[in-house]
Amino acid sequence: MNSNVWQFVLKPWRAATGLLAAASLMAVAFCNPATPSTQTRFEFSEPHMGTLFRIVLYAPAAGTAAQASRAAFDRVAALDDIMSDYRADSELMRMCRQAGGPPVKVSGDLFRVLVAAQNIAGRSNGAFDATVGPVVRLWRAARRSHHLPDPQRLAEAESHVGFQRIRLDPETQTVQLLERGMLLDLGGIAKGYAADAALAVLRQGGINCALVAGGGDIAVGDPPPGKEGWSIGIASLDSPSSAPQRFVLLHDAAISTSGDAEQHVEIAGVRYSHIVDPKTGQALTGRRSATVIAPDCTTSDALATAVCVLGPHRGVALIDSLPGTSMLMVIEGPSSIETYESKFPAPAREPNYDAR
Ligand code: ADP
Ligand code: MG
Repeated sequence: MNSNVWQFVLKPWRAATGLLAAASLMAVAFCNPATPSTQTRFEFSEPHMGTLFRIVLYAPAAGTAAQASRAAFDRVAALDDIMSDYRADSELMRMCRQAGGPPVKVSGDLFRVLVAAQNIAGRSNGAFDATVGPVVRLWRAARRSHHLPDPQRLAEAESHVGFQRIRLDPETQTVQLLERGMLLDLGGIAKGYAADAALAVLRQGGINCALVAGGGDIAVGDPPPGKEGWSIGIASLDSPSSAPQRFVLLHDAAISTSGDAEQHVEIAGVRYSHIVDPKTGQALTGRRSATVIAPDCTTSDALATAVCVLGPHRGVALIDSLPGTSMLMVIEGPSSIETYESKFPAPAREPNYDAR
């Protein structure tokens, strides 16, 4: 491989590969050899939040790069301790055990991510809803057992869903879950928040030219030396393992893809996604993927999940209404792959991409 080329590839629509979660974004960037630069490219990866986090950055020296990436990964790990719903002792889960009780004082990070979650919940008319926890638990069990959730248990779980039952008080930085049995799930927003936070740590350390990817959620800072932006490849739905056909150039922005790429289950010939419709408690079915670009990754992550739930027409209407955002949605229709877009950047064909 050409040493001036770096790339990482996260392939979608593949059989589940342990820790690797769904993703259908690829990022490639080419350090322009014609541009004199004292910056060298460094790349690091670590598993966090049930997926692989990758950091690509340009720094003057290896020591600086290693130190900065260490601090960024540590920040992601600390956020996982706060937001995980897999760990009974995470701040999120401790807070949920107070559901139905008085307001609970929470950390700045938990408060901020909940503010963002509630904002997208409101704008998407509840298509994104962090209170889906009880329902998501049942669908997770269904993915393991290959049996659909019991309808009665699903109805009971669904009765605890509703983002209007979260009260946030910025004055006291407290959160109140209004009913017993509520369970929050930040799986649709936490990776984006963590990517933003990691990028911020890099910037605080003086590294502005960086990319942080948490699975299919990618936050980018200043462009690589000599480039206009980071080239992000979007894998196609019908042949995901081949080189992406479409690229976008991004800097100081974020891009997220949501879909049922790897976290899904097939029961009686129907493919059920890990994304649920909060209004019905049902898992989404069929193959679809939504890619959203937004000013930050917290927003792109939550919006990509929301657009999957809303479907193409309401998804396009939502993104049309939000400045600074754009989307590309791909759905497997009865006879063909259908594509829907809102304000999505014109394809930037990456001429050197085949240098794998
Ligand atoms: P990925 O985790 O593959 O990046 P998403 O960002 O779309 O995909 O997040 C999906 C996760 O979000 C699910 O595994 C679940 O934990 C949670 N979730 C599922 N449906 C919703 C929903 N409608 N609103 C908010 N969170 C959801
Ligand atoms: Mg998401």
